[in-house]
Amino acid sequence: MALDFALERTSTPAGDDRVAEALASPGFGRVFTDHMVTAVWTADGGWHDARVRPYGPLSLDPATQVFHYAQSIFEGFKAYRQPDGSIATFRPEANGARFVRSAQRMALPALDVEDFVAAADTLIRVDERWVPAATDASLYLRPFMMATEVGLGVRPASEVTFVLIASPSSSYFAGGAKPVTIWLSEDYTRAAPGGTGAAKCAGNYAASLVAQQEAIANGCDQVVFLDAVERRWVEELGGMNIFFVLDDGTLVTPELTGSILEGVTRDTILTLAKELGHEVEERRVDVDEWRKGVETGRITETFACGTAAIVASIGTLRWRGGEAVAAPATPVADAVRETLVGVQNGLIPDTHGWMHRVP
Ligand SMILES: *Cc1c(COP(=O)(O)O)cnc(C)c1O
Repeated sequence: MALDFALERTSTPAGDDRVAEALASPGFGRVFTDHMVTAVWTADGGWHDARVRPYGPLSLDPATQVFHYAQSIFEGFKAYRQPDGSIATFRPEANGARFVRSAQRMALPALDVEDFVAAADTLIRVDERWVPAATDASLYLRPFMMATEVGLGVRPASEVTFVLIASPSSSYFAGGAKPVTIWLSEDYTRAAPGGTGAAKCAGNYAASLVAQQEAIANGCDQVVFLDAVERRWVEELGGMNIFFVLDDGTLVTPELTGSILEGVTRDTILTLAKELGHEVEERRVDVDEWRKGVETGRITETFACGTAAIVASIGTLRWRGGEAVAAPATPVADAVRETLVGVQNGLIPDTHGWMHRVP
């Protein structure tokens, strides 16, 4: 049964000048729109009480399960202003389907993809004036779900809350499109076979932060993780997938092993790269293939990808005692980024049905 969203408008909407200021340089995840969506699931009643309501704090009992046992998942996707003034989201059904898979892994209830997409459509329509028009900006949608049953017993929650918030955003990295430096994590892993690596769950991020701290301490922007068994196969960054460009134009990305998060951007790039004339390979990549490949010129570019940053070229891979520095030119990453951003902003025809027009 499809959810109905009751609407309670804020009595204190942001002034037009504040919205204009926020849209002029939004940064990432700092400013939020006037409203949010919430819905509640109970084991007895299923999903109910879906509402668009004023953005604001949630009041939760200190014994709420999510604070203790992290039964929590999230998603991230974006809404773009189109040239004709309409608004479209990029592949929201793909995020909705992943939200269902993440929920299954974390013993949370599934929210129908249809309701997931409707929640976003409804919030975007209510907070329409927060969708930026610039091609390097968008409205970032952050749906999440958490165990809100109260009590310290360890078990899947019988009460769960879904929340959707929205934040105007510009490019994720402060340096814009300038290449990033990546730290190779040799002490920490992100995900193990049978673990939660393929689920977009809060705990994965908590577990990656100490490695991210180590990266920053070593002058790097982000961290890259190896597989947990052999400590040899490149998996992904803390929150982005990775691609290598070979000197014959082939794009290589680590194959999905169950411990890698299946990025929507990764999947999109696999399709776009073929259309741009590249061979694409999904296979295991040894970290030594990366280090040596940069040195010998076999690997001409490396880039990370994800919804927030879209495509970020990797200039330097650094590890304890050494580094491999890529050539500065990044023509393939630039072409992939331009094509993807072009489709998202309605400047390049969408031949795959990726854009969802917000009704
Ligand atoms: C969200 C996420 C990605 C990127 O996924 P997109 O759907 O492209 O945004 C990659 N890795 C991890 C660990 C993630 O959580």
